[in-house]
Amino acid sequence: LLLARRGAGLVAPTTRRGITTARPAAAYDVIVIGGGHAGCEAATAAARAGARTALVTQNADTVGEMSCNPSIGGIGKGHLVKEVDALGGVMGRGIDWAGIHFRMLNRRKGPAVWGPRAQADRDLYKDWMQNELSDYPNLSIVEASAEDVLFDNEEVRAVQTSAGELETKAAVITTGTFLRGKIFVGSESFPAGRYVRDDPYTATTEPPSCGLAKTLEVDLALPLSRLKTGTPPRLDGRTIDWDKCVEQPSEEAQPFSYFNDQRKDRKTVKCFRTATNQKTHDIVRDYVHTLAPTTTDGVGPRYCPSLHKKVERFSERDSHVVWLEPEGLETDLVYPNGLSGAWPRDVQEKIVRSIVGLERAEIVQPGYDVEYDFVDPRSLDHGLGVRNVVGLHLAGQICGTTGYEEAAALGIVAGANAALSALDRDLPLENRRRFVVGRDQGYIGVLVDDLVTRGTMEPYRMFTSRAEYRLHLRADNADLRLTEKGAEVGLVESGRLDKCLERSKLVDDGVQHLDSLRFAPEAWGAFFLEGAEAERDAKRRPHKTASELLAMPHADFDKLKAFCAEQNVDLNVAADAEDTVAAQCKYAAYLTRQKRDMDNYRKHDATKIPADLDYSEANLPALSAEEREKLVAARPRTFAEAGAISGLTPASLVYLYQHVSSRG
Ligand code: FAD
Repeated sequence: LLLARRGAGLVAPTTRRGITTARPAAAYDVIVIGGGHAGCEAATAAARAGARTALVTQNADTVGEMSCNPSIGGIGKGHLVKEVDALGGVMGRGIDWAGIHFRMLNRRKGPAVWGPRAQADRDLYKDWMQNELSDYPNLSIVEASAEDVLFDNEEVRAVQTSAGELETKAAVITTGTFLRGKIFVGSESFPAGRYVRDDPYTATTEPPSCGLAKTLEVDLALPLSRLKTGTPPRLDGRTIDWDKCVEQPSEEAQPFSYFNDQRKDRKTVKCFRTATNQKTHDIVRDYVHTLAPTTTDGVGPRYCPSLHKKVERFSERDSHVVWLEPEGLETDLVYPNGLSGAWPRDVQEKIVRSIVGLERAEIVQPGYDVEYDFVDPRSLDHGLGVRNVVGLHLAGQICGTTGYEEAAALGIVAGANAALSALDRDLPLENRRRFVVGRDQGYIGVLVDDLVTRGTMEPYRMFTSRAEYRLHLRADNADLRLTEKGAEVGLVESGRLDKCLERSKLVDDGVQHLDSLRFAPEAWGAFFLEGAEAERDAKRRPHKTASELLAMPHADFDKLKAFCAEQNVDLNVAADAEDTVAAQCKYAAYLTRQKRDMDNYRKHDATKIPADLDYSEANLPALSAEEREKLVAARPRTFAEAGAISGLTPASLVYLYQHVSSRG
């Protein structure tokens, strides 16, 4: 292994902790730099698309490492994982294997915006990923640090690594929080990409990536800026008074992968809830001067703020929830979700111990912040290729995002396009393929389009509200939206495509069948209506098809099933298609309206917005505080300008348009 690191080569691959590092080959089609979530997807996507691929990563033991919270999914993010899986990616199968606690977020809202989320056993996830990648056809893993990308006439030629120069036709850079990374804990700061644990109780830092920052900033003259993110301390679970906290058992596991590889012997754990209090907030305020200097340029994540930011921003609140999330089945480490902050260790202890249940808690590893460079994603095209350079792609946190799921989603797009760029290099320009997902085809499309057209000033995370077609972009139909598209460029193996086509037929048959079942008003009225509605004269009601019944408020598939059983009617929808059939019927009318509103709005890009428009909550109550803040700062003159503001949702743009046009 050491030999491979120095470029002298190995006779046989070496296996360590389940991962195989191979002797670097003379030439590759694609080199992916970085073995995080973007890198794992980029490397496997490029390999699936038929490119001879190497994953160059500085420490093979940290491939698939979850740097922060060991959880995957959530609102909007769960959709991304389903889409990555629909394209043959690895993240969904990994979390299905390693999940130990499951929840469906946003359940009070419609199924289109439910957010599946799973807590992972951190080591199981990493081991699964390393095993998967070590056996992946077309893929080698080279343990080395990439220092530079070399070009010939603005075409990628090679990657300079600590293992020597590796020839390649395309490269994907996925350096996460490492690009000129700098860690902050209290008044201390030093160059590093992150902490990783060698064993449960010791952690070391990984070096930052400085050579590549020079390549991007100096050689390619790309615009780089700084972002920042933080992680809470890790606690020793044996020192927590669990009885004082509120228990949150796991819900039934919801698989992320259409090729569900769930463990039959799945064990789950309980998470717990506690909360900060007035005493905690006093400590936070009293010790604000001991925080890592706020003179840093890095902008932190709006939606995962440090405890200090929460106390400052919501000064009226005397408590914030803290989730206590076990890091695995075989470890006592606990992740206190909600307690991020780079105070000195002794202040972190005071803060932690002011909280009910944590009075005796021991910190195993203090929380810290990391600040890093990112590239303005407006320098990229929709295939995540750097404009005007052939074969160089970026993915993950380096594009300004935060989160494993966003990184994975960008990874699959960049990996696929790097492979296509390498494989089609000798074809005339017009015959070269590209893999681009539209905003109406997937959250992946929304993510890429938001980044490359609007850019971002703060770590970007996905939300369902960012999509204009969110009733169509559901978790249940990611395969129907994307699998065939992925197969066209080789991302999807034939078994997965067959399964998707089969399911597509089952869904079409199911919807057709529900359209064909008609029920008399007396029958459905008694079952689906309540109170005064049910009392009304049945003759004044129409006949309804089963799909129309599903579209009624409070109706769902289970209710329809019960009704049909009562009527002795066979529903005849395959179990594998139920969710999608139900959603398609439920949203049919809304989908049409949503499309009409968007089409209508898009025709009015040039419409002027009054310079004195009052963006206050009193005048425009449906805008969020973030949107209000950004609109006031930008004062867009037209809807084209408003549409270019990152963080303004499509629904809010339509709302603003309706407000402005109603003023005449
Ligand atoms: P990473 O997972 O960071 O992977 C980068 C990979 O590149 C690593 O394997 C590294 O070894 C390798 N590498 C770097 N430079 C080189 C080089 N020159 N040569 C070879 N290999 C190289 N996410 C959230 O959603 N919310 C949060 O609040 C949050 N907080 C975080 C706090 C901290 C302290 C950290 C470190 C991360 C946090 N994350 C958070 C971010 C989350 O970890 C990332 O979004 C996600 O891991 C990004 O994936 P990535 O693949 O882009 O990069």
